[in-house]
Amino acid sequence: MADKQPGWDWNIPFTRNFPLSDGMSADQASTKRYLSAMRGMFSDEGAFNAVLEEENPLVYEFYELGAPADAGDLAFGTSITYPGKVGKEYFMTKGHFHTILETAEVYWCIRGKGLMLLENPEGDWRIEELVPGRAVYVPKRYAHRSINVGTEPFATFFVFRADAGHDYGTIETKGYRKLVVERNGKPVVIDNPKWREDAR
Ligand code: ZN
Repeated sequence: MADKQPGWDWNIPFTRNFPLSDGMSADQASTKRYLSAMRGMFSDEGAFNAVLEEENPLVYEFYELGAPADAGDLAFGTSITYPGKVGKEYFMTKGHFHTILETAEVYWCIRGKGLMLLENPEGDWRIEELVPGRAVYVPKRYAHRSINVGTEPFATFFVFRADAGHDYGTIETKGYRKLVVERNGKPVVIDNPKWREDAR
């Protein structure tokens, strides 16, 4: 069942290093999401195009280890969302549901200041603020997105059941019910005008 990844055996204890700051060495390369890969995810299309005309900033990156997709294993790593905005909307991750919807996750903030936007298919949504030392429990069924509302990189450590899988498509086509934008220098939650209940 397990898809054994090259490199090491997940049945034997091991340690890995994750960077806690820019320039610190990691044991593996990160997956990087540049703004150009996030077309349609920010509400202000004009602002999105304006930023891209100037540059294609790194919005977020994450370090993962390619855990075998086994229910008995744990996938873990770190996620770093960089400070910035598209129009009034803060830099954020795409966000995802788990392919196995009934699987939870923990994120522990290790740097910066951010929000976790949580939303389930039944329509319940929450915003949880994260600062270094604080962890958020993402329950079963909740999509989750990291949002950097600070001025330095917002970094979290995450761990979840290794076979949970990622469903990005639902969020990409449907969006979230809510957005977080800056108003008078503070993050405010608003309805997403582009959210479509029927889209799938
Ligand atoms: Zn997840």
